[in-house]
Amino acid sequence: MREELFPFIYYENGKLKIDGISVEELARKYGTPLYVYSQSALEHWFKEFDSAFSSIEHITCFAVKSNSNISVLKVLKELGAGADTVSMGEIFRALTAGIDPKKIVFAGVGKRIDEIEYGLEKGILMFNVESESELYAINRVAEKLGKVAPIAFRVNPDVNPKTHPYISTGLKTSKFGIAYEGAIELYKKAKNLKNINPIGIHFHIGSQITDVSVFGEAARKIKEIVKELYSVGIEIEYFDAGGGLGISYNPNEPPVPARALADEIIPIIKDLGCKLILEPGRRLAGNAGILLSQVIYKKERHEKLFYIVDAGMNDLARPSLYKAYHHIVPASKKEGNLKKADVVGPICETGDILAEDRELPPLNEGDIIAVLSAGAYGFTMASNYNSRPRPAEVIAKEGRAEIIRQRETLGDLISKEEIF
Ligand SMILES: *Cc1c(COP(=O)(O)O)cnc(C)c1O
Repeated sequence: MREELFPFIYYENGKLKIDGISVEELARKYGTPLYVYSQSALEHWFKEFDSAFSSIEHITCFAVKSNSNISVLKVLKELGAGADTVSMGEIFRALTAGIDPKKIVFAGVGKRIDEIEYGLEKGILMFNVESESELYAINRVAEKLGKVAPIAFRVNPDVNPKTHPYISTGLKTSKFGIAYEGAIELYKKAKNLKNINPIGIHFHIGSQITDVSVFGEAARKIKEIVKELYSVGIEIEYFDAGGGLGISYNPNEPPVPARALADEIIPIIKDLGCKLILEPGRRLAGNAGILLSQVIYKKERHEKLFYIVDAGMNDLARPSLYKAYHHIVPASKKEGNLKKADVVGPICETGDILAEDRELPPLNEGDIIAVLSAGAYGFTMASNYNSRPRPAEVIAKEGRAEIIRQRETLGDLISKEEIF
């Protein structure tokens, strides 16, 4: 009997499996904490997203910051994905995975000179520029290298994505992008710079957005700028609508279909004649990955039950950073009544909580649990806080598993330090 939680993540005869493999087997073989991704799920989510936009010329640029493992990037590259990057390191990863530089866009409010040089030398598709100062910096670097830099401005459309304030990026008060009102003037300045070619326009309003109407609201506002640019002879070739489409963090709730986003955006931009760029991150990787952890201790105190597990906020930061909800399930189905408990990590911080007051089946010390929807902003946000080596990463496909990042060792922890 099969009970699906998310595509390719399911119980079969009471055992949790991912892409054909039992998670208990994976935990035994590779240890915990362990990130496991399903290749079939990555493919599923990429196709679900990309095919929704098939009626318009487009590039789906995976947001590398959500999951930057080069094997994950390679799976998406094989399906035709480009990359949305926010640092030289991410461009390096995307290129290492074989992604065509002409499908790489580079955003970020604080691009350094060496990063601009790197992007120009590698011939990326465009720089998503976030300030006037950055525009001049790119022009200077391009002049020095004898190149013309293709750019888009990241315009802040001032819409409220109705998501967590820490992942809202398109409000007037946010540090991202240039002001909507000043956009035309900046494009004119850019057009007059010898080593700049303004070929695109970009917005990205936030993350985990489930009300797709806000994308439409932003796209309509940005379209007004594009039309005005056309009227002054500035040809915009790429309309970059950013990422941010939300996923379901609850296996009992279906996600917003990507088609709903496409139906919102495509009619707005169809008559502009632009190519569309999309930058989904979470949407492609979030529900393709899980974090496996082991219950180390059970502790009952003042009527409160704690499960202390071996994955902490250093391994998965989202719950402590944003109070984000992650569904947690046991690797083997349990008999017995649900009980309210906190699932906490081993880190010496009160905020090191994976789940608070959560109704869970009774767990025992030694049990393996799976934290679901951990494929995006999971490993990429992991740290060595408390001097804990970062977890291993594994990819599963139809019953086979491959390690795609070794667990860090104690030696790795100090490998860059000098004893003085
Ligand atoms: C983070 C980010 C994305 C991806 O956001 P998701 O919510 O993961 O889709 C896309 N574009 C830019 C510029 C970003 O900063």
